[in-house]
Amino acid sequence: MEMPRSEISTNDQKNVFRTPRESSADRTSGNGNHAAGTALQSRGLHLYYGQTHALKGIDLEMPERRITALIGPSGCGKSTYLRCFNRMNDMIEGVRVEGQVMVEGLDVHRPDIDLERLRKRIGMVFQKSNPFPMSIRENISFGPRMTGVRGRGRLEELVERSLRQADLWEEVRERLDNSALDLSGGQQQRLCIARALANEPDILLLDEPASALDPISTAKIEETLLQLKESYTIVIVTHNLQQAARIADRTAFFMLGELVEYNDTTTMFTSPRQAITEEYITGRFG
Ligand code: ADP
Repeated sequence: MEMPRSEISTNDQKNVFRTPRESSADRTSGNGNHAAGTALQSRGLHLYYGQTHALKGIDLEMPERRITALIGPSGCGKSTYLRCFNRMNDMIEGVRVEGQVMVEGLDVHRPDIDLERLRKRIGMVFQKSNPFPMSIRENISFGPRMTGVRGRGRLEELVERSLRQADLWEEVRERLDNSALDLSGGQQQRLCIARALANEPDILLLDEPASALDPISTAKIEETLLQLKESYTIVIVTHNLQQAARIADRTAFFMLGELVEYNDTTTMFTSPRQAITEEYITGRFG
């Protein structure tokens, strides 16, 4: 299933973003700081919350159209790292960032960055599902409306497509005008995924999206993510190591603000390079 996609220019200083479907060939060209197939990247990334040094020199490249899991004990910087890509940490007072953060080859700290467009390219889903107190249909069409999508037909199409992508359509198609708050926890979380997809992002960042859900709802979310990676770059923060092992292509292990190890998931879970990684994945601390 091919989705409408957008390309971010790597070499055009004036137009921070290109419009959808411009030149996919440009993805690998440009100023040379964007390896082919890398969607998200950080170099020497440090982040401070006042005196707290939360990220300590993170170098990481995450491939496009794959699932990357961020694992590690609570407080090690996973959510902070995730929020660097859409510059959500900017909203927190006292935050200082050093180093480079790249989204599809574009340095997100460039002074001329169009933050609104950057954030449109990156959908975000949080641990606690947060549907708007409005109908299922309105939850999905809200974002597109805000960005100027008009026309009942176009909006209806977006609603159906997004709900199908999040594997929720069949469950809600007969009650699109009911309140989203009446859905189950798992359905609400898939609604939040659908809502993120309705903005037609390239990238989905998920911060423990299933940690409050029962095993069946969790499995449903995991299935959905596995389908979505055909078209989207996905990064998921998870406490659930089995979940990382089940769905992630690559896994990054963080501890105390440092990236300890990053590898393909099978290697990480079968023959980790660092003793501390092995201790963590075998449950000796966490
Ligand atoms: P994780 O997602 O791995 O649990 P976080 O990224 O939430 O870790 O936190 C990393 C560190 O940054 C922790 O020491 C945490 O207390 C601190 N931190 C996170 N958010 C804030 C904030 N808004 N203000 C101050 N410190 C924060």
